[in-house]
Amino acid sequence: MRTDFTATRALFDIPEGVIYLDGNSLGPLPRAVPARVAKAMTAEWGQMLITAWNRAGWMGLPERLGDRIGRLIGAEPGTVTLGDTLSIKVFQAVSAALAARPERRVILTDSGNFPTDLYIAQGLADLLAAGHELRIVAPEEVEAAIDESIAVTMLTEVDYRTGRKHDMKALTARAHVAGALAFWDLAHSAGALPVDLAGAGADFAAGCTYKYLNAGPGAPAFLYVAPRHAETARPALCGWLGHEAPFAFEPGYRPAPGTQRMRVGTPPVLQLAALEAALDVWEGVEMADVRAQSLMLADRFIAAVEAICPDLRLVTPRDPAQRGSQASFAHPQGYAIMQALIAEGVIGDFRAPDILRFGFTPLYLGADEVDRAAAILADILKTGRWDRPDFHARARVT
Ligand SMILES: *Cc1c(COP(=O)(O)O)cnc(C)c1O
Repeated sequence: MRTDFTATRALFDIPEGVIYLDGNSLGPLPRAVPARVAKAMTAEWGQMLITAWNRAGWMGLPERLGDRIGRLIGAEPGTVTLGDTLSIKVFQAVSAALAARPERRVILTDSGNFPTDLYIAQGLADLLAAGHELRIVAPEEVEAAIDESIAVTMLTEVDYRTGRKHDMKALTARAHVAGALAFWDLAHSAGALPVDLAGAGADFAAGCTYKYLNAGPGAPAFLYVAPRHAETARPALCGWLGHEAPFAFEPGYRPAPGTQRMRVGTPPVLQLAALEAALDVWEGVEMADVRAQSLMLADRFIAAVEAICPDLRLVTPRDPAQRGSQASFAHPQGYAIMQALIAEGVIGDFRAPDILRFGFTPLYLGADEVDRAAAILADILKTGRWDRPDFHARARVT
């Protein structure tokens, strides 16, 4: 192992007494981020004013940082851009795929996919009003459901709820044999495990930067377009910054070369500044080490919980090859149990209807904390101290 996880841990600001098992939902604050954002505000925005678009290189940030993310997901240089939210990027990618398969009408996905992906695809099918169908099958049935009616497979590599992981390479190959395109949602993959988009032959991919990439709440999404589609992909949202010459202010749209055409409007500079500093954390980090360590931590947690919390049922696949970096357990009182855990400093989250979800991110999490989290969970269950009215009251965000 070449990655020094003691060193990476020192790069994060995690409150004293907190065991953070929710980097899969919102990564913690890297220590270098506040100063970088302050610099973007005071030295760049404050002093350079509008000239900072050129002088501070703001306009190039989406592709510059896109390339740095590209290294973490096996993307070729120049194939990744940043902007908007993942929901918007799903819309653009799926719509570009449908445009590239005009004779086909089916978007294939699975029932474990994240709701926004499903809603966006259904909304797109309705908008096109051309008879497109969103076909939803069980995760285990995706492979068999890929046939010549499919225009695009729209899959999230790691299931946000169960942590189940699809075989990206095999399913992409299968889609291609059937003449379909493959879009991958990497929300729970980028920064969590090794991804090889180029090696897998993915056509499009997208993900967020506020989960395992630690760029903060509201940080923009990334979008990958395979080089073979870069000059033909239709961006669907034809914004001025995806135009070949935005400052020519032409009345008609012409797509920018390559993935840059997937830009829509003005980049979120302050969030990109946060992302820039957050990406420094990955210097010297080997994704294979992150994967090995995260599986070790998750295995340790699963073993402890199964030994001392018999009422919790593991819903994450036991086989490491079939899961991402989270472990999820079902319990009918999952919501209240999670609130009690959070009140005692162990932060995971709850996903309806009954899932307690824990993420294992070795950049800032060690084995001792995993052991303590399992012990606190066991104690909460044993004493029943989760059963308080305030722990049952549902907050707006779970
Ligand atoms: C977190 C997540 C999203 C979130 O989309 P936003 O537009 O960033 O809110 C979408 N898809 C998946 C699979 C996710 O896990």
